[in-house]
Amino acid sequence: MLKKVLIANRGEIAVRIIRACREMGIRTVAIYSEADKNALHTTLADEAICIGPAPSNKSYLNVKAILETACLTGADSIHPGFGFLSENVNFAKMCEEIGIKFIGPNYKLIELLGNKSKAKETMKDAGVPVVEGSEGLIYSKEQAIEVAKKINYPVILKASAGGGGRGIRIAYSEDELKKQYDIVKKEAKNSFNDDSIYIEKYIENPRHVEIQILADEYGNCIHLGERDCSIQRRNQKILEETPSTIISHATRKKMGEIAVKATKKIGYANAGTIEFLVDKNQKFYFMEMNTRVQVEHPVTEMVTNIDIIKEQIKIASGEKLNLSQDDIKINGHSMEVRINAENPDKNFMPCPGTITGLHLPGGNGIRVDTAIYSGYKVPQNYDSMLLKIIVHGKTREESISKMKSAIAELVIDGIDTNVDFIYEILKNENFKNNNYDTSFIHKEYGM
Ligand code: ADP
Ligand code: ADP
Ligand code: MG
Repeated sequence: MLKKVLIANRGEIAVRIIRACREMGIRTVAIYSEADKNALHTTLADEAICIGPAPSNKSYLNVKAILETACLTGADSIHPGFGFLSENVNFAKMCEEIGIKFIGPNYKLIELLGNKSKAKETMKDAGVPVVEGSEGLIYSKEQAIEVAKKINYPVILKASAGGGGRGIRIAYSEDELKKQYDIVKKEAKNSFNDDSIYIEKYIENPRHVEIQILADEYGNCIHLGERDCSIQRRNQKILEETPSTIISHATRKKMGEIAVKATKKIGYANAGTIEFLVDKNQKFYFMEMNTRVQVEHPVTEMVTNIDIIKEQIKIASGEKLNLSQDDIKINGHSMEVRINAENPDKNFMPCPGTITGLHLPGGNGIRVDTAIYSGYKVPQNYDSMLLKIIVHGKTREESISKMKSAIAELVIDGIDTNVDFIYEILKNENFKNNNYDTSFIHKEYGM
């Protein structure tokens, strides 16, 4: 078993990983930026090392400083969390080269799957249904127009290196396509330093349903059911739940089996998520595979009683999965909401600042994953997510009631958050009645 894990992340996910390690008797090393001197992850870990100034590229993305810290502190492994270096091929490769276990899949698979266009081709070959679109990358506007003519409008242009909902644009006509092409190219170059793009059919009114995978280094693989993440703003999730209310038992089984088969075929080990779009006729299409733990992993933990972070660590330690598909029983319903320091009325603009007062909800079936506390100063340099509330009920109705009562109790003073906006969603009749898709927020609230 691994003995000392360096956590190359911050915020609630760093805290989540530190806690899992502590339960397992594994020592932890936190890294922090100058802006995070008083952060919770810095305080909670067994050791904490400052690795640079506030900007991410000088600290949480500073590969050299992080690897040196791992060596100096004698860490045998690095957990990257999500975001930051979690899907960085070079980082995972360097870890391997210096004999530090990267808690995630082999860098070659990160490379393959991080290129969304290549990943799509690979999955197609592995027998997974994919959205119709360009074969590989698009190299010119003319080519984009050609493909769009073949698959018909609307189409969606996507950055092959994209993530976090960025580098995605829809076009309903040739004129729009011409404009969006330039925008996506630019956005992809700026955000990912890689302007390669691909094009696919825009699936109208779909649900986003993803399968959680666990696979060990000996070819054993299971899935932990699905998560429905259709409630999104700007292609980014803000509320997730499991089970999904849209898919039938047969579709669930089929999606799970296909996801497991594909994972085995590509030789993937560790936790991973295969994201699908599901249309009105229960047809589903591969979108991308995320080669890391996801923000919304807790809902799966609630209904399966499996700790996904601990499983990641066990797999990275070289243990065999001690679970079979038949061991996985889905118990009840779970829902998560992401509370962000942002202003929904100003196009979800981030709102950093100092939290002057805080009361967190609790109680039966209510879990809060966060790193904030009263007096905490939310830095402007990082992601705006403050906390996740996760509830576990017998039914979806019970989960919604629990979530509403938890949110009614929550107090965050001093900064703007999306709490009221999330409460509106929970009260929305179409949401309650299962009458929604990925464009819900746009349609209901004009955002
Ligand atoms: P998911 O994990 O379900 O794919 P998202 O795609 O919305 O969820 O969010 C994951 C991505 O968003 C990360 O890869 C990262 O780019 C960014 N992100 C979200 N929250 C954080 C955070 N607390 N710290 C760093 N990056 C974050
Ligand atoms: P990211 O890497 O940023 O998470 P994804 O490829 O997972 O990007 O897409 C993010 C979201 O964009 C999806 O959850 C979905 O709502 C929307 N989306 C992506 N591709 C399509 C498509 N072909 N048709 C309709 N919506 C799509
Ligand atoms: Mg995605």
